[in-house]
Amino acid sequence: MTASKQQAASGTLYTVSAPSGAGKTSLVAALVDANEALRVSVSHTTRTIRPGETDGVNYHFVHKPTFMTMLEDGVFLEQAEVFGNLYGTSQLWVEEQLTAGTDVILEIDWQGAQQVKRLMPGTQAIFILPPSRDALRERLTTRGQDNEAIIEGRMDQAQQEMSHYVESDFLVLNDDFATALAQLQAIIDCHRLHTQQQTQRLASTLADLMSPG
Ligand code: 5GP
Repeated sequence: MTASKQQAASGTLYTVSAPSGAGKTSLVAALVDANEALRVSVSHTTRTIRPGETDGVNYHFVHKPTFMTMLEDGVFLEQAEVFGNLYGTSQLWVEEQLTAGTDVILEIDWQGAQQVKRLMPGTQAIFILPPSRDALRERLTTRGQDNEAIIEGRMDQAQQEMSHYVESDFLVLNDDFATALAQLQAIIDCHRLHTQQQTQRLASTLADLMSPG
């Protein structure tokens, strides 16, 4: 992304990272539901579609050659390999939303969050953690979408993913869903109240208040 594009952007970009099973997707969905000018990016992935998922809603599911062509064409703002599958975020979509003043959430892993923060230092990185290792295992088991070997693999991967919480700006513990959601909302609200953001949003009110006489 060019410097001039970053300056023109008025929405805030958030990355939300978490180990699989921390409840990230449900929390982000509830947050987006409650906020009009907040949207979540739909990533491209080479992963197989899971039961209950819809192409174009949860992900854009593509074959590896298509993904590689998109990568060569510079389509992705960031991309990473997670559990042997490729994932990427559309740069154009993100730029369009931010320029229109819409806040954007990227639900991405720590590798992607690092790339985005490097490219766009104003990005706010949020990390969601489960309340305990036992709770994480239980959530991965009851989800019932993956077999035992995959669950064990994901527990190991989760530990590695969680070690990257130190790179985030905000840390949210998802013990109670409503509390975690309220904390995410507080992060969004806080950024929307920054003077720079409010100056754009309240332009006519401020002009009125500052007018002479
Ligand atoms: P899942 O396949 O279980 O939905 O996601 C596996 C991991 O890939 C999660 O940590 C998720 O956040 C991450 N992920 C999903 N989309 C992207 C993306 O576009 N970029 C990156 N870097 N990670 C992603």
